[in-house]
Amino acid sequence: MNEHAVVIAGGGPTGLMLAGELALAGIDVVIVERRANQDVDGSRAGGLHSRTIEVLDQRGIAERFLSAGQVHPALGFSQVALDISDFPTRHNYLLALWQSLFEPILADWVGELGVPILREREVVGFAQDDTGVDVELSDNTSLRAEYLVGCDGGRSLIRKAAGIDFAGLDPSTSWMIAEVEMDEEPEFGFRHDSVGTHAIGRREEGEPIRVVLTERHVEHTGDPSMDELREALIAVYGTDYGVHSANWISRFTDMSRQAASYRQGRVLLAGDAAHVHPPQGGQGLNTGVQDAVNLGWKLAQVVNKTSPESLLDSYHAERHPVGARVLHNTMAQVALARADDRHQALRDTMTELLGMDEPRRRIAGMLSGLDIHYDLGEGHPLLGRRMPDLDLQTADGPTRVFTLLHDARPVLLNLGEPGGLDITPWADRVLTIDAEYADDWELPVLGHVAAPAAVMIRPDGYVAWVGDGTDTGLRDALTTWFGSR
Ligand SMILES: Cc1cc2nc3c(=O)[nH]c(=O)nc-3n(C[C@H](O)[C@H](O)[C@H](O)COP(=O)(O)OP(=O)(O)OC[C@H]3O[C@@H](n4cnc5c(N)ncnc54)[C@H](O)[C@@H]3O)c2cc1C
Repeated sequence: MNEHAVVIAGGGPTGLMLAGELALAGIDVVIVERRANQDVDGSRAGGLHSRTIEVLDQRGIAERFLSAGQVHPALGFSQVALDISDFPTRHNYLLALWQSLFEPILADWVGELGVPILREREVVGFAQDDTGVDVELSDNTSLRAEYLVGCDGGRSLIRKAAGIDFAGLDPSTSWMIAEVEMDEEPEFGFRHDSVGTHAIGRREEGEPIRVVLTERHVEHTGDPSMDELREALIAVYGTDYGVHSANWISRFTDMSRQAASYRQGRVLLAGDAAHVHPPQGGQGLNTGVQDAVNLGWKLAQVVNKTSPESLLDSYHAERHPVGARVLHNTMAQVALARADDRHQALRDTMTELLGMDEPRRRIAGMLSGLDIHYDLGEGHPLLGRRMPDLDLQTADGPTRVFTLLHDARPVLLNLGEPGGLDITPWADRVLTIDAEYADDWELPVLGHVAAPAAVMIRPDGYVAWVGDGTDTGLRDALTTWFGSR
Protein backbone atom coordinates (compact mmCIF):
# COMPACT_ATOMS: atom_id res chain seq x y z
CA MET A 1 0.00 0.00 0.00
CA ASN A 2 1.44 3.41 -1.01
CA GLU A 3 1.83 5.89 1.82
CA HIS A 4 1.48 9.68 1.61
CA ALA A 5 1.19 12.37 4.24
CA VAL A 6 -1.98 13.75 2.64
CA VAL A 7 -4.42 12.30 0.10
CA ILE A 8 -6.76 14.77 -1.60
CA ALA A 9 -9.96 13.36 -3.11
CA GLY A 10 -10.80 15.55 -6.11
CA GLY A 11 -8.61 17.63 -8.38
CA GLY A 12 -10.99 20.52 -9.10
CA PRO A 13 -10.10 24.11 -8.18
CA THR A 14 -10.07 23.44 -4.42
CA GLY A 15 -8.09 20.19 -4.53
CA LEU A 16 -5.51 21.66 -6.90
CA MET A 17 -4.99 24.78 -4.79
CA LEU A 18 -4.63 22.72 -1.62
CA ALA A 19 -2.14 20.40 -3.30
CA GLY A 20 -0.05 23.41 -4.39
CA GLU A 21 -0.06 24.86 -0.88
CA LEU A 22 1.00 21.55 0.68
CA ALA A 23 3.71 20.97 -1.94
CA LEU A 24 5.16 24.44 -1.26
CA ALA A 25 5.50 23.39 2.39
CA GLY A 26 7.33 20.21 1.33
CA ILE A 27 4.48 17.83 2.17
CA ASP A 28 4.11 14.49 0.35
CA VAL A 29 0.64 14.93 -1.19
CA VAL A 30 -1.26 13.07 -3.89
CA ILE A 31 -4.53 13.90 -5.66
CA VAL A 32 -7.02 11.19 -6.65
CA GLU A 33 -9.21 12.49 -9.49
CA ARG A 34 -12.09 10.88 -11.32
CA ARG A 35 -11.65 12.86 -14.56
CA ALA A 36 -9.10 11.86 -17.20
CA ASN A 37 -7.99 15.49 -17.66
CA GLN A 38 -8.80 19.02 -16.47
CA ASP A 39 -11.62 19.59 -19.00
CA VAL A 40 -14.80 21.12 -17.57
CA ASP A 41 -17.83 22.16 -19.52
CA GLY A 42 -18.44 25.90 -19.63
CA SER A 43 -21.40 25.84 -17.28
CA ARG A 44 -19.19 26.36 -14.24
CA ALA A 45 -17.50 29.43 -12.72
CA GLY A 46 -17.04 32.52 -14.82
CA GLY A 47 -14.65 34.64 -12.83
CA LEU A 48 -12.20 35.39 -10.07
CA HIS A 49 -12.86 37.91 -7.32
CA SER A 50 -10.24 40.28 -5.91
CA ARG A 51 -9.26 38.22 -2.88
CA THR A 52 -8.74 35.09 -4.97
CA ILE A 53 -6.51 37.01 -7.37
CA GLU A 54 -4.65 38.34 -4.33
CA VAL A 55 -4.01 34.86 -2.92
CA LEU A 56 -2.71 33.77 -6.32
CA ASP A 57 -0.54 36.91 -6.34
CA GLN A 58 0.76 35.89 -2.89
CA ARG A 59 2.14 32.77 -4.60
CA GLY A 60 3.53 34.67 -7.59
CA ILE A 61 1.11 33.12 -10.12
CA ALA A 62 -1.60 35.80 -10.56
CA GLU A 63 -0.18 36.96 -13.90
CA ARG A 64 -0.84 33.54 -15.47
CA PHE A 65 -4.56 33.98 -14.83
CA LEU A 66 -4.72 37.70 -15.55
CA SER A 67 -3.21 37.22 -18.99
CA ALA A 68 -5.89 34.62 -19.82
CA GLY A 69 -8.96 36.66 -18.77
CA GLN A 70 -10.55 40.09 -19.04
CA VAL A 71 -10.91 42.56 -16.17
CA HIS A 72 -14.20 44.30 -15.37
CA PRO A 73 -14.51 47.15 -12.86
CA ALA A 74 -17.88 45.99 -11.47
CA LEU A 75 -19.23 43.00 -9.55
CA GLY A 76 -22.85 41.93 -9.71
CA PHE A 77 -25.16 41.57 -6.70
CA SER A 78 -28.35 40.10 -8.15
CA GLN A 79 -27.98 42.19 -11.33
CA VAL A 80 -27.00 45.37 -9.48
CA ALA A 81 -23.54 46.44 -10.67
CA LEU A 82 -21.10 47.44 -7.92
CA ASP A 83 -18.05 49.33 -9.15
CA ILE A 84 -14.94 48.46 -7.11
CA SER A 85 -12.38 50.47 -9.04
CA ASP A 86 -11.84 52.68 -5.95
CA PHE A 87 -11.00 49.68 -3.70
CA PRO A 88 -7.50 49.82 -2.16
CA THR A 89 -6.04 46.69 -3.79
CA ARG A 90 -3.95 46.11 -6.89
CA HIS A 91 -6.72 43.85 -8.11
CA ASN A 92 -9.71 46.18 -7.88
CA TYR A 93 -11.79 44.33 -10.48
CA LEU A 94 -13.48 41.07 -11.39
CA LEU A 95 -11.44 38.83 -13.66
CA ALA A 96 -13.70 37.17 -16.23
CA LEU A 97 -12.11 33.75 -16.74
CA TRP A 98 -14.06 30.55 -17.36
CA GLN A 99 -13.37 27.65 -15.03
CA SER A 100 -12.43 25.64 -18.14
CA LEU A 101 -9.43 27.99 -18.54
CA PHE A 102 -8.74 28.45 -14.82
CA GLU A 103 -8.31 24.76 -14.01
CA PRO A 104 -5.58 23.90 -16.57
CA ILE A 105 -3.51 26.94 -15.52
CA LEU A 106 -3.74 25.93 -11.86
CA ALA A 107 -3.02 22.29 -12.73
CA ASP A 108 0.16 23.36 -14.58
CA TRP A 109 1.41 25.09 -11.41
CA VAL A 110 0.62 22.00 -9.32
CA GLY A 111 2.47 19.90 -11.90
CA GLU A 112 5.52 22.18 -11.67
CA LEU A 113 5.49 21.58 -7.91
CA GLY A 114 5.67 17.85 -8.60
CA VAL A 115 2.31 16.74 -7.17
CA PRO A 116 1.16 13.39 -8.64
CA ILE A 117 -2.46 13.18 -9.82
CA LEU A 118 -3.92 9.65 -9.93
CA ARG A 119 -6.44 10.13 -12.74
CA GLU A 120 -9.49 8.11 -13.77
CA ARG A 121 -9.71 6.76 -10.25
CA GLU A 122 -12.16 7.54 -7.49
CA VAL A 123 -12.00 7.39 -3.76
CA VAL A 124 -14.72 4.86 -2.92
CA GLY A 125 -14.30 4.60 0.84
CA PHE A 126 -11.99 5.13 3.79
CA ALA A 127 -11.37 4.04 7.36
CA GLN A 128 -9.54 6.22 9.86
CA ASP A 129 -7.72 5.13 13.00
CA ASP A 130 -5.48 6.87 15.53
CA THR A 131 -2.49 7.20 13.24
CA GLY A 132 -3.93 7.62 9.78
CA VAL A 133 -6.53 6.86 7.12
CA ASP A 134 -6.79 3.91 4.73
CA VAL A 135 -8.19 5.28 1.49
CA GLU A 136 -9.86 2.81 -0.89
CA LEU A 137 -9.73 3.53 -4.62
CA SER A 138 -12.00 2.38 -7.44
CA ASP A 139 -9.20 0.30 -9.03
CA ASN A 140 -9.15 -1.95 -5.95
CA THR A 141 -5.93 -0.43 -4.64
CA SER A 142 -5.63 1.61 -1.48
CA LEU A 143 -3.48 4.39 -0.09
CA ARG A 144 -2.42 5.07 3.48
CA ALA A 145 -2.36 8.74 4.55
CA GLU A 146 -1.99 10.75 7.72
CA TYR A 147 -4.87 12.96 6.52
CA LEU A 148 -7.57 12.73 3.85
CA VAL A 149 -9.14 15.90 2.46
CA GLY A 150 -12.44 15.72 0.59
CA CYS A 151 -12.30 18.27 -2.22
CA ASP A 152 -14.68 16.08 -4.16
CA GLY A 153 -17.45 18.56 -4.92
CA GLY A 154 -21.05 19.07 -3.81
CA ARG A 155 -21.96 15.37 -3.88
CA SER A 156 -18.85 14.57 -1.82
CA LEU A 157 -18.42 10.90 -1.04
CA ILE A 158 -15.96 11.82 1.70
CA ARG A 159 -18.55 14.00 3.46
CA LYS A 160 -21.24 11.32 3.17
CA ALA A 161 -18.96 8.47 4.27
CA ALA A 162 -17.81 10.54 7.26
CA GLY A 163 -21.47 10.98 8.20
CA ILE A 164 -21.12 14.78 8.32
CA ASP A 165 -24.50 16.50 8.24
CA PHE A 166 -25.11 18.72 5.20
CA ALA A 167 -27.75 21.02 6.61
CA GLY A 168 -29.60 23.66 4.64
CA LEU A 169 -32.31 24.39 2.13
CA ASP A 170 -33.69 22.26 -0.71
CA PRO A 171 -33.91 24.00 -4.08
CA SER A 172 -36.76 26.43 -4.69
CA THR A 173 -35.80 27.27 -8.29
CA SER A 174 -34.08 25.48 -11.17
CA TRP A 175 -32.31 27.16 -14.10
CA MET A 176 -31.45 25.77 -17.52
CA ILE A 177 -28.09 26.97 -18.83
CA ALA A 178 -26.62 26.44 -22.29
CA GLU A 179 -23.95 27.57 -24.72
CA VAL A 180 -25.35 27.60 -28.25
CA GLU A 181 -25.44 29.18 -31.71
CA MET A 182 -28.57 30.98 -32.96
CA ASP A 183 -29.61 31.74 -36.54
CA GLU A 184 -31.43 34.91 -35.49
CA GLU A 185 -30.18 37.76 -33.31
CA PRO A 186 -31.74 37.09 -29.86
CA GLU A 187 -32.90 39.64 -27.29
CA PHE A 188 -29.64 40.15 -25.38
CA GLY A 189 -29.84 41.09 -21.69
CA PHE A 190 -32.20 40.24 -18.85
CA ARG A 191 -35.92 39.56 -19.14
CA HIS A 192 -38.27 39.23 -16.16
CA ASP A 193 -41.64 37.47 -16.36
CA SER A 194 -44.02 35.66 -14.03
CA VAL A 195 -41.68 32.63 -13.90
CA GLY A 196 -38.46 34.48 -13.08
CA THR A 197 -35.44 36.17 -14.60
CA HIS A 198 -33.96 34.95 -17.90
CA ALA A 199 -30.84 36.11 -19.68
CA ILE A 200 -29.12 35.81 -23.04
CA GLY A 201 -25.57 37.06 -23.46
CA ARG A 202 -22.24 36.79 -25.18
CA ARG A 203 -18.89 37.99 -23.87
CA GLU A 204 -17.38 38.80 -27.27
CA GLU A 205 -18.73 39.16 -30.80
CA GLY A 206 -18.24 35.85 -32.61
CA GLU A 207 -18.30 33.79 -29.40
CA PRO A 208 -21.13 31.30 -28.75
CA ILE A 209 -24.27 32.62 -27.04
CA ARG A 210 -25.03 31.80 -23.41
CA VAL A 211 -28.60 31.30 -22.30
CA VAL A 212 -29.90 31.09 -18.72
CA LEU A 213 -33.62 30.38 -18.32
CA THR A 214 -35.58 30.05 -15.10
CA GLU A 215 -37.52 26.79 -15.26
CA ARG A 216 -41.18 26.38 -14.42
CA HIS A 217 -40.55 23.37 -12.22
CA VAL A 218 -37.83 22.53 -9.73
CA GLU A 219 -37.81 18.73 -9.96
CA HIS A 220 -35.74 17.34 -12.86
CA THR A 221 -33.54 14.37 -13.49
CA GLY A 222 -30.39 14.77 -15.57
CA ASP A 223 -29.31 17.38 -18.07
CA PRO A 224 -31.91 18.97 -20.37
CA SER A 225 -32.14 18.08 -24.08
CA MET A 226 -32.04 20.43 -27.08
CA ASP A 227 -35.82 20.00 -27.45
CA GLU A 228 -36.35 21.10 -23.86
CA LEU A 229 -34.15 24.15 -24.46
CA ARG A 230 -36.17 25.07 -27.59
CA GLU A 231 -39.46 24.70 -25.70
CA ALA A 232 -38.18 26.80 -22.82
CA LEU A 233 -36.98 29.57 -25.19
CA ILE A 234 -40.35 29.64 -26.96
CA ALA A 235 -42.18 29.77 -23.62
CA VAL A 236 -40.18 32.85 -22.56
CA TYR A 237 -39.41 34.70 -25.82
CA GLY A 238 -42.06 33.33 -28.19
CA THR A 239 -39.28 32.01 -30.48
CA ASP A 240 -36.29 29.70 -30.22
CA TYR A 241 -34.20 32.12 -32.39
CA GLY A 242 -33.17 29.15 -34.55
CA VAL A 243 -31.07 27.69 -31.74
CA HIS A 244 -28.61 24.95 -32.72
CA SER A 245 -25.11 23.54 -32.16
CA ALA A 246 -25.15 23.43 -28.36
CA ASN A 247 -21.68 23.05 -26.84
CA TRP A 248 -23.44 21.99 -23.68
CA ILE A 249 -26.83 22.24 -21.96
CA SER A 250 -27.06 21.90 -18.21
CA ARG A 251 -29.04 23.03 -15.18
CA PHE A 252 -28.42 24.28 -11.65
CA THR A 253 -30.59 25.10 -8.65
CA ASP A 254 -30.52 27.34 -5.59
CA MET A 255 -29.96 24.48 -3.14
CA SER A 256 -28.00 25.90 -0.16
CA ARG A 257 -26.28 23.48 2.18
CA GLN A 258 -23.22 23.55 4.39
CA ALA A 259 -21.31 20.81 6.19
CA ALA A 260 -21.94 20.99 9.93
CA SER A 261 -18.27 20.31 10.53
CA TYR A 262 -15.29 20.83 8.20
CA ARG A 263 -13.25 18.25 10.11
CA GLN A 264 -13.81 14.85 11.58
CA GLY A 265 -10.57 13.57 13.07
CA ARG A 266 -8.14 12.98 10.20
CA VAL A 267 -10.69 13.79 7.52
CA LEU A 268 -11.31 17.34 6.33
CA LEU A 269 -13.64 18.95 3.80
CA ALA A 270 -13.01 21.95 1.55
CA GLY A 271 -14.70 23.71 -1.36
CA ASP A 272 -18.05 22.52 -2.70
CA ALA A 273 -17.72 19.38 -0.56
CA ALA A 274 -18.21 21.72 2.41
CA HIS A 275 -20.73 24.19 0.95
CA VAL A 276 -23.08 24.42 -2.01
CA HIS A 277 -25.16 27.43 -2.98
CA PRO A 278 -26.50 29.05 -6.15
CA PRO A 279 -23.96 30.74 -8.45
CA GLN A 280 -25.36 34.28 -8.04
CA GLY A 281 -22.43 36.57 -7.27
CA GLY A 282 -19.92 34.01 -8.59
CA GLN A 283 -18.47 32.95 -5.25
CA GLY A 284 -18.23 29.12 -5.22
CA LEU A 285 -14.86 28.51 -6.82
CA ASN A 286 -13.45 31.56 -5.06
CA THR A 287 -14.54 30.31 -1.64
CA GLY A 288 -13.09 26.86 -2.33
CA VAL A 289 -9.71 28.23 -3.39
CA GLN A 290 -9.60 30.36 -0.27
CA ASP A 291 -10.62 27.40 1.94
CA ALA A 292 -7.60 25.61 0.49
CA VAL A 293 -5.24 28.50 1.24
CA ASN A 294 -6.51 28.66 4.83
CA LEU A 295 -6.13 24.90 5.36
CA GLY A 296 -2.89 24.24 3.46
CA TRP A 297 -0.27 25.77 5.77
CA LYS A 298 -2.08 24.58 8.90
CA LEU A 299 -2.23 20.99 7.70
CA ALA A 300 1.42 21.21 6.61
CA GLN A 301 2.49 22.36 10.07
CA VAL A 302 0.51 19.58 11.76
CA VAL A 303 2.00 16.97 9.41
CA ASN A 304 5.48 18.43 10.01
CA LYS A 305 4.75 18.27 13.74
CA THR A 306 5.61 21.92 14.25
CA SER A 307 2.05 22.54 15.46
CA PRO A 308 -0.40 20.43 17.47
CA GLU A 309 -3.43 18.89 15.79
CA SER A 310 -5.63 21.50 17.48
CA LEU A 311 -4.39 24.06 14.91
CA LEU A 312 -6.72 22.29 12.45
CA ASP A 313 -9.72 23.36 14.52
CA SER A 314 -9.02 26.94 13.51
CA TYR A 315 -9.76 25.90 9.90
CA HIS A 316 -13.41 25.17 10.71
CA ALA A 317 -13.60 28.11 13.13
CA GLU A 318 -12.40 30.55 10.44
CA ARG A 319 -13.85 29.16 7.22
CA HIS A 320 -17.28 27.91 8.34
CA PRO A 321 -18.52 31.46 9.08
CA VAL A 322 -17.17 32.64 5.70
CA GLY A 323 -19.07 29.84 3.92
CA ALA A 324 -22.23 30.60 5.93
CA ARG A 325 -22.07 34.23 4.80
CA VAL A 326 -21.77 33.16 1.18
CA LEU A 327 -24.85 30.95 1.53
CA HIS A 328 -26.68 33.82 3.18
CA ASN A 329 -25.89 36.40 0.51
CA THR A 330 -26.72 34.01 -2.35
CA MET A 331 -30.10 33.31 -0.74
CA ALA A 332 -30.71 37.06 -0.64
CA GLN A 333 -29.70 37.40 -4.29
CA VAL A 334 -32.07 34.63 -5.38
CA ALA A 335 -34.90 36.23 -3.41
CA LEU A 336 -34.18 39.63 -4.99
CA ALA A 337 -34.43 38.19 -8.49
CA ARG A 338 -37.93 36.78 -7.97
CA ALA A 339 -40.35 37.83 -10.64
CA ASP A 340 -43.31 39.76 -9.32
CA ASP A 341 -44.15 43.41 -8.74
CA ARG A 342 -43.32 43.29 -5.05
CA HIS A 343 -39.85 41.86 -5.69
CA GLN A 344 -39.38 44.39 -8.49
CA ALA A 345 -40.08 47.10 -5.90
CA LEU A 346 -37.54 45.47 -3.59
CA ARG A 347 -34.98 45.33 -6.43
CA ASP A 348 -35.56 49.02 -7.19
CA THR A 349 -35.06 49.85 -3.52
CA MET A 350 -31.88 47.77 -3.27
CA THR A 351 -30.54 49.28 -6.49
CA GLU A 352 -31.03 52.74 -5.02
CA LEU A 353 -29.39 51.74 -1.73
CA LEU A 354 -26.44 50.05 -3.44
CA GLY A 355 -25.90 53.21 -5.48
CA MET A 356 -24.84 54.86 -2.20
CA ASP A 357 -21.22 54.68 -1.26
CA GLU A 358 -21.25 52.88 2.09
CA PRO A 359 -23.72 50.09 1.12
CA ARG A 360 -21.84 49.56 -2.17
CA ARG A 361 -18.52 49.19 -0.35
CA ARG A 362 -20.00 46.81 2.22
CA ILE A 363 -21.65 44.43 -0.20
CA ALA A 364 -18.80 44.57 -2.75
CA GLY A 365 -16.31 44.01 0.09
CA MET A 366 -18.20 40.83 0.96
CA LEU A 367 -18.55 39.48 -2.60
CA SER A 368 -14.92 40.20 -3.45
CA GLY A 369 -13.71 38.46 -0.26
CA LEU A 370 -11.70 41.55 0.66
CA ASP A 371 -13.63 42.17 3.88
CA ILE A 372 -12.92 38.74 5.42
CA HIS A 373 -12.17 39.11 9.12
CA TYR A 374 -11.14 36.06 11.09
CA ASP A 375 -11.95 36.47 14.76
CA LEU A 376 -8.50 36.59 16.36
CA GLY A 377 -9.67 38.69 19.29
CA GLU A 378 -9.63 42.38 20.12
CA GLY A 379 -6.93 44.67 18.81
CA HIS A 380 -5.77 46.72 15.85
CA PRO A 381 -8.21 46.57 12.88
CA LEU A 382 -5.59 44.64 10.87
CA LEU A 383 -5.75 41.68 13.26
CA GLY A 384 -7.44 38.76 11.44
CA ARG A 385 -7.72 40.79 8.22
CA ARG A 386 -5.83 40.43 4.94
CA MET A 387 -2.45 42.10 4.81
CA PRO A 388 -2.39 44.78 2.09
CA ASP A 389 0.19 44.35 -0.65
CA LEU A 390 2.33 47.36 0.32
CA ASP A 391 5.33 48.66 -1.59
CA LEU A 392 8.19 48.32 0.91
CA GLN A 393 11.75 49.57 1.09
CA THR A 394 14.20 47.04 2.54
CA ALA A 395 17.99 46.88 2.87
CA ASP A 396 17.91 44.66 -0.23
CA GLY A 397 15.89 47.19 -2.22
CA PRO A 398 12.18 47.67 -2.94
CA THR A 399 9.78 44.76 -2.65
CA ARG A 400 6.07 44.03 -2.25
CA VAL A 401 4.48 42.30 0.74
CA PHE A 402 2.98 39.61 -1.52
CA THR A 403 6.44 38.82 -2.94
CA LEU A 404 7.54 37.96 0.60
CA LEU A 405 4.73 35.37 0.74
CA HIS A 406 5.62 33.47 -2.45
CA ASP A 407 7.07 30.52 -0.51
CA ALA A 408 3.97 30.27 1.73
CA ARG A 409 6.04 30.94 4.84
CA PRO A 410 5.04 33.26 7.71
CA VAL A 411 6.58 36.73 7.74
CA LEU A 412 7.27 39.09 10.63
CA LEU A 413 7.37 42.52 9.05
CA ASN A 414 9.13 45.01 11.29
CA LEU A 415 8.41 48.59 10.25
CA GLY A 416 9.99 50.11 13.38
CA GLU A 417 13.58 50.23 14.56
CA PRO A 418 15.62 47.78 12.39
CA GLY A 419 16.54 44.67 14.39
CA GLY A 420 14.06 45.74 17.09
CA LEU A 421 12.21 42.40 17.15
CA ASP A 422 14.11 39.28 18.15
CA ILE A 423 12.40 35.96 17.44
CA THR A 424 15.53 33.81 17.29
CA PRO A 425 13.81 30.61 18.55
CA TRP A 426 11.37 30.77 15.59
CA ALA A 427 13.95 31.95 13.05
CA ASP A 428 13.76 28.69 11.06
CA ARG A 429 9.98 28.99 10.76
CA VAL A 430 9.28 32.71 10.43
CA LEU A 431 11.02 35.10 8.05
CA THR A 432 11.78 38.45 9.71
CA ILE A 433 12.03 41.47 7.43
CA ASP A 434 12.97 45.00 8.47
CA ALA A 435 11.31 47.43 6.09
CA GLU A 436 10.10 50.99 5.67
CA TYR A 437 6.66 52.03 4.55
CA ALA A 438 5.70 55.68 4.77
CA ASP A 439 2.35 55.81 2.94
CA ASP A 440 -1.24 55.49 4.14
CA TRP A 441 -2.73 52.29 5.51
CA GLU A 442 -6.09 51.82 3.88
CA LEU A 443 -8.24 48.69 4.14
CA PRO A 444 -11.18 47.80 1.89
CA VAL A 445 -14.54 48.78 3.45
CA LEU A 446 -12.92 50.03 6.71
CA GLY A 447 -10.88 52.83 5.17
CA HIS A 448 -7.82 54.36 6.83
CA VAL A 449 -6.30 52.66 9.88
CA ALA A 450 -3.42 53.63 12.17
CA ALA A 451 0.02 52.57 10.93
CA PRO A 452 1.29 49.57 12.94
CA ALA A 453 4.93 49.27 14.08
CA ALA A 454 5.06 45.60 13.01
CA VAL A 455 2.79 42.86 11.70
CA MET A 456 3.08 39.09 11.70
CA ILE A 457 1.59 37.69 8.51
CA ARG A 458 0.44 34.08 8.23
CA PRO A 459 1.22 32.15 5.03
CA ASP A 460 -2.38 32.73 3.87
CA GLY A 461 -1.82 36.49 4.03
CA TYR A 462 -3.89 37.21 7.17
CA VAL A 463 -2.44 39.26 10.02
CA ALA A 464 -1.90 37.22 13.21
CA TRP A 465 -0.27 39.89 15.39
CA VAL A 466 0.10 43.68 15.26
CA GLY A 467 2.97 45.41 17.07
CA ASP A 468 2.68 48.76 18.85
CA GLY A 469 6.42 49.37 19.10
CA THR A 470 6.93 46.67 21.75
CA ASP A 471 6.89 42.87 21.43
CA THR A 472 3.87 42.45 23.73
CA GLY A 473 1.95 39.33 22.74
CA LEU A 474 4.42 38.36 20.00
CA ARG A 475 5.65 35.13 21.61
CA ASP A 476 2.11 34.00 22.38
CA ALA A 477 1.07 34.66 18.79
CA LEU A 478 4.12 32.83 17.45
CA THR A 479 3.34 29.84 19.66
CA THR A 480 -0.35 29.82 18.73
CA TRP A 481 0.24 29.97 15.00
CA PHE A 482 3.68 28.50 14.39
CA GLY A 483 4.18 26.12 17.30
CA SER A 484 6.07 26.30 20.59
CA ARG A 485 9.87 26.23 20.88
C1 LIG B 1 -23.75 27.31 -13.40
C2 LIG B 1 -22.66 27.52 -12.43
C3 LIG B 1 -22.03 28.76 -12.40
C4 LIG B 1 -21.02 28.99 -11.49
N1 LIG B 1 -20.44 30.23 -11.47
C5 LIG B 1 -19.46 30.47 -10.59
C6 LIG B 1 -18.76 31.72 -10.60
O1 LIG B 1 -19.02 32.60 -11.43
N2 LIG B 1 -17.80 31.92 -9.69
C7 LIG B 1 -17.45 30.96 -8.78
O2 LIG B 1 -16.56 31.22 -7.95
N3 LIG B 1 -18.06 29.75 -8.76
C8 LIG B 1 -19.05 29.49 -9.63
N4 LIG B 1 -19.63 28.26 -9.65
C9 LIG B 1 -19.24 27.26 -8.66
C10 LIG B 1 -17.95 26.52 -9.02
O3 LIG B 1 -18.07 25.88 -10.26
C11 LIG B 1 -17.64 25.52 -7.91
O4 LIG B 1 -17.79 26.16 -6.67
C12 LIG B 1 -16.23 24.96 -8.01
O5 LIG B 1 -16.08 24.14 -9.14
C13 LIG B 1 -15.90 24.16 -6.76
O6 LIG B 1 -14.63 23.59 -6.88
P1 LIG B 1 -14.29 22.28 -6.07
O7 LIG B 1 -12.91 21.91 -6.48
O8 LIG B 1 -14.58 22.48 -4.64
O9 LIG B 1 -15.33 21.19 -6.58
P2 LIG B 1 -15.51 20.61 -8.06
O10 LIG B 1 -15.18 21.62 -9.08
O11 LIG B 1 -16.86 19.98 -8.09
O12 LIG B 1 -14.39 19.51 -8.16
C14 LIG B 1 -14.52 18.26 -7.52
C15 LIG B 1 -13.60 17.28 -8.23
O13 LIG B 1 -13.65 16.04 -7.55
C16 LIG B 1 -13.74 14.98 -8.50
N5 LIG B 1 -14.37 13.89 -7.75
C17 LIG B 1 -15.64 13.82 -7.30
N6 LIG B 1 -15.83 12.72 -6.56
C18 LIG B 1 -14.64 12.07 -6.54
C19 LIG B 1 -14.17 10.89 -5.91
N7 LIG B 1 -14.98 10.14 -5.13
N8 LIG B 1 -12.89 10.51 -6.09
C20 LIG B 1 -12.05 11.27 -6.85
N9 LIG B 1 -12.44 12.42 -7.47
C21 LIG B 1 -13.71 12.81 -7.30
C22 LIG B 1 -14.53 15.56 -9.64
O14 LIG B 1 -14.25 14.88 -10.85
C23 LIG B 1 -14.03 17.00 -9.66
O15 LIG B 1 -12.90 17.16 -10.48
C24 LIG B 1 -20.64 27.98 -10.58
C25 LIG B 1 -21.24 26.73 -10.61
C26 LIG B 1 -22.25 26.50 -11.53
C27 LIG B 1 -22.90 25.16 -11.56
